Amino acid sequence: MSDDVQWKSSVGVIGAGIQGICISLFLVKKGFKVTLIDRDEPGKNSASYGNAGHFSPYASVPINRPDVLVDVPSMLLSSTGPLALKWNYVPKMFPWFLKFIKNCSRKNMMHTAKYMHQILDLALPAYDELFEEIDISGLVESKGIIYFWTNKDLKSRELEINIRNEFGIKQQLLTPHEIHDLEPHIKQIYHGGVLYPNARHTRNPKKVLLKLFDFFLKEGGHFERQNVQTISFPPDNKPVIKTDLNFYTFDKLVVACGAFSKKLTDQVNEKIPLDTERGYHVHFKGHDHLLSRPVIFLNRGLGITPMEQGLRVVGTVEFGGLDNPPSKKRIKYLVNSAKYLFPKLGKHEDEWLGFRPTLPDFLPVIGPSKNHKNLFYSFGHHHLGWTLGAISGKIIAGMIAKENTNLNLSPYNSLRFS
Ligand SMILES: Cc1cc2nc3c(=O)[nH]c(=O)nc-3n(C[C@H](O)[C@H](O)[C@H](O)COP(=O)(O)OP(=O)(O)OC[C@H]3O[C@@H](n4cnc5c(N)ncnc54)[C@H](O)[C@@H]3O)c2cc1C
Repeated sequence: MSDDVQWKSSVGVIGAGIQGICISLFLVKKGFKVTLIDRDEPGKNSASYGNAGHFSPYASVPINRPDVLVDVPSMLLSSTGPLALKWNYVPKMFPWFLKFIKNCSRKNMMHTAKYMHQILDLALPAYDELFEEIDISGLVESKGIIYFWTNKDLKSRELEINIRNEFGIKQQLLTPHEIHDLEPHIKQIYHGGVLYPNARHTRNPKKVLLKLFDFFLKEGGHFERQNVQTISFPPDNKPVIKTDLNFYTFDKLVVACGAFSKKLTDQVNEKIPLDTERGYHVHFKGHDHLLSRPVIFLNRGLGITPMEQGLRVVGTVEFGGLDNPPSKKRIKYLVNSAKYLFPKLGKHEDEWLGFRPTLPDFLPVIGPSKNHKNLFYSFGHHHLGWTLGAISGKIIAGMIAKENTNLNLSPYNSLRFS
């Protein structure tokens, strides 16, 4: 938009991950005067930079489900499994775990699955609206995603497959022979698998993020690289933020800081139990030709995506908060598991730790604050924040523009924690 255009009201968006950038882009396209604020350059090191790059519209079944309660304790105690704890963080996270357990009933699992499905089903069309206007050639591929497993893991796969069938999600069960035909370089340790043919992946999440960010700037958006310290509401009820350098007042404000959002929402008297599931990646450079599409080895909670950086090996869930140092054991787990599937892999590079923003009911918070009508939230998208960037952005922009919607948005409201 050019300078002589009449802007609607001003909106500040804190956080330039995939959530903040998509929200800012949909808002600026509706004519709002948007300032996007981040303490880092977009895509520098956030979860939106280092993820597995899956667009997974099928992934509606949450991790909190009745069968995990049986498996999780032994997985947590094993130092070689896909789950890990930083013991010094257990007391802090204890209330989160209790809420998580409460949400593992079949009824709560189905509630989460239903409302994840509601937004996941719209995730790719929302991205397509944005991708129509930027050049993503070579960056986003539509070849589906394969999950495979050994017999040991079959029981929990059946639950997921059945629920996805109920939702009408396209999935194709694969025999070992079919997996081999599709991905011949993987060692044949698997007993079965499933292909989600409608899934996509990116070959470089950072490049996609920067394309969207450049588009935002081109449409007239403004970026400030600053660390936000506080949010406050003076008597006129317009949100004021204090950064390390300045004060800013906006008509409306959006918090989209991923796993770091709680540091800001706690200041405005919300009690949102956001925490993080830490995840890691490494790259095996020059080996992306070994896969045509992303694969997930379910027994080990591990994903491998062919990317411009090589094979990106991604995974593990570590409960340990935002401040603990990375764990060498987790990296070793990823590297050993990748070499188990591809014995000829050599040296890995680029060890990375990232923070999935996760609420104990595995639904995101997308909506207004309970206490301030000019404050909005979009965070807590856990393992699916990359997939849900565009649709969350579209929903928040629609709310701020006071548009009507047919969606039931109340399940995403922070009021559920009051
Ligand atoms: C290992 C791993 C693999 C994953 N794989 C996938 C996948 O394949 N598909 C999928 O859909 N999802 C995946 N995810 C999840 C997804 O990456 C996240 O849910 C998503 O990136 C979160 O986006 P966000 O914009 O909310 O947060 P982030 O990307 O974390 O961005 C938050 C931004 O806020 C900024 N910020 C924080 N505090 C402040 C402050 N006080 N002031 C200013 N700026 C601040 C940060 O600098 C950051 O840039 C994965 C996550 C991990 C860790």
